[in-house]
Amino acid sequence: MPDTIAAIATPQLPSAIGILRLSGPDTRRILDVVFSPAHGGPISGQAPRRMVLGDLHDRQGRIIDSALAVLFPGPHSYTGEDCAEIHCHGSPVVLNEGLDALFAQGARQARGGEFTQRAFLNGRMDLIQAEAVADLIDAESPAAARNAVGQLEGRLSRGVEEIYDGLMEVVSRFYAVVDYPDEDIDPLTQGQLSQTLARSETALETLLATFRRGQLLRQGVPAVILGKPNAGKSSLLNALLGYDRAIVTDVAGTTRDTVEEKVQVGHVLLRLCDTAGLRDTGDAVERLGVQRTRDAARQAALALLVLDGSRPLTAEDEDAIATAAAVPRQLVIVNKTDLPAGVEPAALSQRFGQVYPLSAATGEGVDALCRAVEALYPAGRQAQGELLTNARQADAVARSLEAVRSARRALEDGMTPDVVLTDAEAALEALGELNGKRIREDLVQTIFSRFCVGK
Ligand code: GDP
Ligand code: ZN
Repeated sequence: MPDTIAAIATPQLPSAIGILRLSGPDTRRILDVVFSPAHGGPISGQAPRRMVLGDLHDRQGRIIDSALAVLFPGPHSYTGEDCAEIHCHGSPVVLNEGLDALFAQGARQARGGEFTQRAFLNGRMDLIQAEAVADLIDAESPAAARNAVGQLEGRLSRGVEEIYDGLMEVVSRFYAVVDYPDEDIDPLTQGQLSQTLARSETALETLLATFRRGQLLRQGVPAVILGKPNAGKSSLLNALLGYDRAIVTDVAGTTRDTVEEKVQVGHVLLRLCDTAGLRDTGDAVERLGVQRTRDAARQAALALLVLDGSRPLTAEDEDAIATAAAVPRQLVIVNKTDLPAGVEPAALSQRFGQVYPLSAATGEGVDALCRAVEALYPAGRQAQGELLTNARQADAVARSLEAVRSARRALEDGMTPDVVLTDAEAALEALGELNGKRIREDLVQTIFSRFCVGK
């Protein structure tokens, strides 16, 4: 029998509304003690899933807030158990007193992610959906949020379920053969099984291929601005920041001693590393030196190479060009179009192909650059949950794929059924770790421990 858990589900800062959350078998009883509806009677006697106005009492029974409470009877609740929320005024004092009153009635503090963990354990969602809850809350761009909510609604899960069912069919057929070794597996069945495995293989490959795009969507595209001193790197960054000021955050890197600037370019989130002179306190780039720039370039997926179009190219430009060439993707920017050209545009186009002439100073041409960035990463724009975004999930898909390939080889090479069965089971096992149908208790614990309290 599970116990009853409670947590403050909103940030503990003074705010308009703060929410206490409760889940477990004692929910009704506890709620009836701490909350008295304005219209009388216990809240458990009122219509479920309806907000009820009333008084919230502290441990001593004193009124601490005028609040709204709502009861979600199990099993059709978020966690699958009886659940409740108390919407108080968003005062950290009130919330803590309220939580304490819940504890006084026997509830215990919920661990990080424990509400969602219970939802998973009670079959209200699979593990992919549970992890999508965390992804949605942590989403850093509208596109990432859209993909996460699609996962939460089960888009990715349905695809995985189909593959899972196909593999299950293969495994159960082979169990039958292994159990009755005298009956040979007939060629028709063999052909069908081989086809099912081939279909699973293709589906897993397609799924795994979405991970790279999913990661760029979730984490942003690691990018670097390269160019010689005074080419206009800092000016370009400022122009990009101005492009969509709505969602810009500064996040100090914790593992490396660098600073990242996040820039939202349309649906693409760029994570620009500071060696491009992002912290323009006397131009960091130039001080940090070549090595730092090279390090940043090595980790980048995209280089924005800034050339000063008002002057002929120099040896320093060639350095930047060479560094940019080592980054998987580059966009070549010819800056300062508001000044007389110092380098032949045709010559640049001939050398680099597509270039983006712009003026970081006036903003002219920045829009075209932004559209080019968006065009480089088209996947995120439409993603509604079909992209794998999570390294744990991608690893499970990769292991499942490996095992399916091996099963198929074994089948085609005429190995004994038990060999094929072992591989097919391994494939099923890995996929079961993905959606949580077959997963070790301690792994579940680890996954949910990364969630916040109250989630
Ligand atoms: P960085 O060293 O590459 O970061 O270059 P900055 O962005 O600091 O710019 C160097 C100088 O070029 C500054 O004086 C800027 O005002 C100037 N600058 C940058 N972009 C433009 C531009 O598009 N047009 C003009 N006329 N000047 C620019
Ligand atoms: Zn600079």
